[in-house]
Parts: sequence; structure tokens; C-alpha cells
Amino acid sequence: MVDFRLSEEQKMIRDMAKEFCDEEVIPNAEEWDKNGIYPLEAINKAHQLGLLNVTIPEKYGGPGMTALDEMIICEELSRGDAGFGTATYHTMLASYPILTGGTEEQKMEYLSRVSNGKLAAYCVTEPDAGSDVQALNTEAKKDGEEYIINGTKAWISGAGYADWFFVLAYTDKDAGYKGLSGFIVDADTPGIELGKKEENMGQRCSDTRGVTFNDVRVPAKNLVGEKENGGWMNAMKAFDHSRPAVAAAAVGNARGAMEEAWKYANQRMTFGKPISKHQSISFMLADMATKIEAARLLTFSAASSLDHGERATLKAAHAKRFAADICMEVTTDAVQILGGYGYSEEYPVARRMRGAKIYQIFEGTSQIQRLIISREIGDSF
Ligand SMILES: Cc1cc2nc3c(=O)[nH]c(=O)nc-3n(C[C@H](O)[C@H](O)[C@H](O)COP(=O)(O)OP(=O)(O)OC[C@H]3O[C@@H](n4cnc5c(N)ncnc54)[C@H](O)[C@@H]3O)c2cc1C
Repeated sequence: MVDFRLSEEQKMIRDMAKEFCDEEVIPNAEEWDKNGIYPLEAINKAHQLGLLNVTIPEKYGGPGMTALDEMIICEELSRGDAGFGTATYHTMLASYPILTGGTEEQKMEYLSRVSNGKLAAYCVTEPDAGSDVQALNTEAKKDGEEYIINGTKAWISGAGYADWFFVLAYTDKDAGYKGLSGFIVDADTPGIELGKKEENMGQRCSDTRGVTFNDVRVPAKNLVGEKENGGWMNAMKAFDHSRPAVAAAAVGNARGAMEEAWKYANQRMTFGKPISKHQSISFMLADMATKIEAARLLTFSAASSLDHGERATLKAAHAKRFAADICMEVTTDAVQILGGYGYSEEYPVARRMRGAKIYQIFEGTSQIQRLIISREIGDSF
């Protein structure tokens, strides 16, 4: 039987996350965005409340929550602010390859650090390799009991604040994607150079920068998993978990914009009545609400598959593609409903719209999600 109701415990977690954002995120979001301030203090508070990295099992010090719990929280954190939501998630993105493919020793060491409040970053993209991961140039060469890593990563969320990195590199370049391996690299290892913080269109409080590895030596035990060349599958498997979370974040950002548009539409008078009473505006609001609801259901459906131990590649792609695209539509419509005021940075919907765009780009663009869906659908419909 399909049951869409949240348990009392899930409602409690959702309300706690919402209250936290109402008090700690929404009042500060404009300033963080304007000045590009990474919200470290608020991230630490959210961690203390048990709202971050929630699927890390209890044996590694985490809350051991379900994927569905994670979606509920991610939606609320990004309803607080899109950039804040992303800044709270890069650590979990880096942790998933360890959780799904790491050795017990690696999990105990690095997931426990995360559970103790340390941050991490996922380093896959390079200046010449985004959607086409096989085009990576970073290489890791075995040298006795160590690997030496050389290469440059680009657009890495949270890199400036990370305690450790998950790094995808070639251990056998001739083998194509089958020659990729994942490594855990402590951020204070000699030879790591951080680029400057990128000046992005939106989500400006989130930290994005390049990371260069110059002859960076890591112990062989930091190869993720037992063997070389399993990195591709492991890095991609992480997306089955993280893409639904990105979808939930997009739902949260869309909802934040919708709330503003709803409030405004019921106050703003034109031609003797609130604009919400003009049918073209009320229908726009109705469509926005339907899109948010549909995207949330796709997200919950992907989470439910994960919680039942099923492969969630297709559902994760459905949720991420749809939620990212509707977030762009809903936030654009919110700007339209606020008219000239919507175009001004004085009102939060402009920030919501700028913040929406990246959901269609990172963790696989909307085009790449369609590529995955078209490959995976088979007879699933
Ligand atoms: C703010 C931000 C944060 C990020 N955080 C991280 C991070 O933490 N870690 C990380 O590793 N990366 C991160 N990224 C990188 C992000 O994942 C990539 O930008 C994304 O995967 C797209 O790669 P690209 O930019 O190289 O675009 P390209 O791959 O060059 O694509 C350019 C365009 O071509 C389209 N395209 C490409 N190939 C195809 C195809 N086969 N069929 C149809 N269309 C295609 C794309 O959809 C896109 O529209 C981040 C990026 C940004 C901007």
C-alpha cells in the first residue's frame, strides 16, 4: 500500500528544521548572499540540532535516519535559503561514496569526523570535464605504500571549508571510465592549492572554488574500497542518493518563492481587488502549487526506493530533472507575480530565481538527467 502521510516523528523533524530556518536562516539570507558569506555558524548550529548528514549510520556517530527523513529536512533547509541548503549538503555528497563503497576503517575514520561536525567536499569536475566524467585528467600513481595525485578540480562546493576531499582520479587512463578510482584526501595534505571563491549568479553564500593537487601524497589505504578502478561506479552511485536530495532542495527553494508570491498576491491591489483575484494570477499560483506537489512526490518516491534498498538511478533522475526545472519555472513566476518589485533585490524572490538555476546544472545537468532517463526507462512505464 502506498502511504504518503508523514509519521509524527517526521512531522516533528520537519517543524524543527522549519523553525530553525525561520529564526537562523531567513533573517540572514540576504546579507549572506549580498556579501558572499559562507554561513559556517548556522551550519554548525544545524549540525548541533541533528539536521545534517542524517543518513550516516549510528555506528559512525550519525543520526541513522532514512532517505525520506533526509528529503524532508533538505526541503526545509533550502526553503530557508537555497545557498544555505547547498552549503549544508556538500559534506553528505562527499560522504556517500565512502558510505556505499568505503572500507570499514575508512567509514569509521571519515564518517565519524563528519558526525563530529567536520565538513567535506566532492571533487569530480575539472575545467575540461563536467558532464563527460571520462574526460578527467587527474591521475593517481602508486608509489610504494602511497599514491601521488596530480590534477585540477573545478567548481567544488565547500572546498574552502573542507576537512577532507573525495577525489576521483585515473589509476589506469587506458581503461577509460573503468580506470577511475576514488581517494580520500585530507585537506591539510601538502601540495593542495585552493582557488579563489567563484562569483556565482546565485546561491552566493555557498563556497565554490577550484582545487589543485600538485604531487599530493596519500596513503594507499585512502583508496576508496579495497581495489583500484572501482571509482566510477562508486562516484555515480553517490548520485542515486544525492540527486533526490538536490530535488528536495529545489522543492524547498520553489516553496520559499511560492510563499512570497502568495503573500504578495493577496496584498497587492490593482483595479480594485487583490491581484490573487485576477484569474491569470490565481491560475499561475495554482500551477506553481501543483508543480511543487508533483516534484515533492517524485522526490519521496526516489527516497522510498532507497529506503527499500532498491536501485534508484531512474527515480533519482526523474526527481532531479523535474524538480530542478519546476523550481526555475516557479521562481520565475514568483518574480512575475511581484511585478517590478520582483525584479528588485529588495524582495527575496529575485534571490530565489537566481538560486534556482544551478539545480539544472550541478550533479548532472537537466540534459544529462534526460539522457539517463531515456537509457533507464526500458519498460518501467
Ligand atoms: C555552483 C556549482 C557548484 C558545483 N559543485 C560541484 C561539486 O561540489 N563537485 C563537483 O565535482 N562538481 C561540482 N560542480 C560542477 C557541475 O557538476 C558541472 O558544472 C556540471 O556537471 C556540468 O558540467 P560543465 O559545467 O562542464 O558543463 P558541460 O558538461 O560542458 O555541458 C555544457 C552544456 O552541454 C550540455 N551537454 C553536455 N553533454 C551533453 C550530452 N551528451 N547531451 C546533451 N547535452 C549535453 C549540458 O547539459 C550543458 O547544457 C558545480 C558547479 C557549479 C556551477
